[in-house]
Amino acid sequence: METVACGMCGSSRARTVLRQRDLALGGSEETFTVVRCRACGLLYLNPRPDRTEIGRFYPPQYFADEQPKSRSELELRLKRWSNAVKRWVREDFYGYPGSRLPRWARMPRRLLLWPEQARRVFRGREILPWTGQGRLLDVGCGPGGNLASLQAQGWDVHGLDASEVAVGRARKRFGDRVRMGDPVATEYKDQSFDVVIFSHALEHMHDVRAVLKESRRILDDRGLLVITLPNAGSWEAKLFGPWWFPWELPRHLYHFDRRTLARMLEQAGFRVVRMRTGVGSLFFMASLERAWTRRLGRPLPARWLMERVVARPFCLLAGHLGHGTEITVYAVKDGVQGEGDNGAAG
Ligand SMILES: [Zn+2]
Repeated sequence: METVACGMCGSSRARTVLRQRDLALGGSEETFTVVRCRACGLLYLNPRPDRTEIGRFYPPQYFADEQPKSRSELELRLKRWSNAVKRWVREDFYGYPGSRLPRWARMPRRLLLWPEQARRVFRGREILPWTGQGRLLDVGCGPGGNLASLQAQGWDVHGLDASEVAVGRARKRFGDRVRMGDPVATEYKDQSFDVVIFSHALEHMHDVRAVLKESRRILDDRGLLVITLPNAGSWEAKLFGPWWFPWELPRHLYHFDRRTLARMLEQAGFRVVRMRTGVGSLFFMASLERAWTRRLGRPLPARWLMERVVARPFCLLAGHLGHGTEITVYAVKDGVQGEGDNGAAG
C-alpha cells in the first residue's frame, strides 16, 4: 500500500470520510479508507494499493464475458425493429452518416421520431454524437463490451486496457485494435482519435491528471472526450453511506462529484461542454440489497415493488436534478482553434 497526497491539488491535508471492505470480491477483512482533501474537496482512497499491488484486486472473474441471450423469433423481429428505430434516431438527431433517405423525407421522419427521442432523453438513454471521422478510443475497454456496441453503430473502434486478461478477451473480437498499455503513456500518435471514452474507467487509474493530459494529446483538436463515472456527490451516495455500491473499494481510487470532475478536466486543458447525471436505478437497488442483507442478515423483501415504487422515481428525480448516481461529461480541448463547433454543445 502507498500513502499519497491529493491527486488534484497536491495537498496532504485530508480527513476520513468512510471506511469499508472490498464488498464485491473481497474474502479478506482488510478495510479501506476514503478521505476528502481539505484544500480542494477531492475524495480519494488513502492509503491505496500501488501499481504493483492493484492487480490482485482484479481476479479474472472481474472481467466477465457477457453471455449472448437466446431469443425467440418474435423477440428477434422486435429487436430488429427497435435497432432500426435507434439507427434513425442516431442519423436524425446525432449526425450519424449512412442515411439512404432522400432529403425531402428527412424532416417528416424526424418529426415522427421526436417522441421516441424525448422518451430516450427522459430515460437517460442518450447517444454519443457523431464526431469527425468516427475514430474512437475506449480507455479501460475491459473485454470489449462497449467496443462491440459502438462498432455496430459505425464507429472505427480501438481499445486500451492495462489488464492482460481483459485485453486477451477483447482481442479475440477486435484483434490488434485493442492494445495493452498504460493510459499515461500510450503509443498513439498526436490527434489520433475523434472521440476518447472513459466508461467507468477513469476512477480506477492511479494518476488521473496525467491520464487526462495524455488523452488530450491523442485527441483531435476538434475531438470529444466523454467520461462516465459514479457521482460521489449524489443523493444515493449520501443515502447509503458506506453501503453505496459504486465505492468499489479498493478498485476505485478516486471518487468525483460534478465540481471536482470539472476542475480536474480544466486543469488538464479541457473545457466542459455538457454534464448530466444518470437516471438508472441499478446502483440504487444493488446498494439497497447489499445494505439490507449485510445489516439484517436476510434477503431484501418485495424487491420488485421496491424497485418500481421507490428506486425508479427516486433515481429519475435525482438524475434530472443533477444529483444522480452517475455523471457523464462531454469535454473539448480548451485553447485550440476550431473549438466550439462540436455536436455535443447543444
Ligand atoms: Zn486536493
